[in-house]
Amino acid sequence: MTSLLVTGAAGFIGSHFVRHWLGKHPDDTVVALDALTYAGTETNLADVADRSVFVQGDIGDGPLVERLLTEHGVDLVVNFAAESHNSLAILDPARFFRTNVLGTQALLEASRRVGVERFHHISTCEVYGDLALDTDEEFTETSPYRPRTPYNAAKAGADHAVRAYHETFDLPVTITNCANNYGSHQFPEKVIPLFTTRALDGKPLPVYASSDNRREWIHVVDHCEAIETVLFKGRPGETYHVGTGVEASVEQIADHVLDELGLPHSLKETVPDRPGHDRRYLLNSDKIRTELGWEPKVPFEKGIKETIRWYADNRDWWQPLLDRSPVVEGRWT
Ligand code: NAD
Repeated sequence: MTSLLVTGAAGFIGSHFVRHWLGKHPDDTVVALDALTYAGTETNLADVADRSVFVQGDIGDGPLVERLLTEHGVDLVVNFAAESHNSLAILDPARFFRTNVLGTQALLEASRRVGVERFHHISTCEVYGDLALDTDEEFTETSPYRPRTPYNAAKAGADHAVRAYHETFDLPVTITNCANNYGSHQFPEKVIPLFTTRALDGKPLPVYASSDNRREWIHVVDHCEAIETVLFKGRPGETYHVGTGVEASVEQIADHVLDELGLPHSLKETVPDRPGHDRRYLLNSDKIRTELGWEPKVPFEKGIKETIRWYADNRDWWQPLLDRSPVVEGRWT
């Protein structure tokens, strides 16, 4: 039996991971730690509430984390906790550096002091900066870090801290850098739920002026499987990219949403790009595929259809969250 501390467990990917893990390993102990910022809600864990231990708290609270690691005999720490919204990072960058860099360092320190079998850190493709729209280039695990936004820079800082704890203190760490996730339970500030929930309310979809800018998309369940694979088979000290190679532009996402809901494309409304809007990210994920045997399973066309349907069928989940969103796209001051 293994004991896990999953941080940011009440957010989008963290809650999917807790569900995924307990589905596969029902006898394991999962301690779900989350500060419950505007982006986290315990309802995301409702279906696993009786099989996990929920603790409201900050990853930056060293004594709390140390106590949880000791009391629950934690073997694996999986760190999802972060401020995760690029647009909010323009309005309030400090909270990003506080949680993503200093919070991660506090979690690393507690993990080192107590001694854990593995510290796995969830990172992003965005630490590498962006790619031109017309290049064949991809980011590899050895590409230089060139973050361009406060969110990306704070995630990059966290990755450096994780590697430093491995090199200096021998903490057995692994890192995964993942492409853009989509799926159910994603806070309605991110592009797919934002477009879908607005369309369902008959409101215009705010499409950035650079509507050809594109992202690589992965279904959240494929991401969870990749993390599980790295926890079992990954080598300490290593970084693994998690990607699909499937790209879609902001404009194409808007069209998918409108077509699925049978609404006119005239609902698209051009808004100014957010400052520092990255053009494109694309990960080379050969390493995790060839060394660890992981590959994504959910086809994009099927996954996005089901995801749009989920928001259409689950207004009760997203409606109460709308007022919590601190950002209005286009208002950058
Ligand atoms: P999310 O915003 O939905 O969830 C983040 C969770 O962290 C929230 O529940 C929030 O309450 C919690 N949190 C924030 N600050 C905290 C703190 N100081 N202490 C404890 N909990 C705190 O984000 P997400 O999309 O689920 O992303 C999870 C992780 O995956 C993040 O580290 C993000 O950078 C990374 N990631 C996300 C994507 C994506 O497409 N969503 C892609 C690659 C990597």
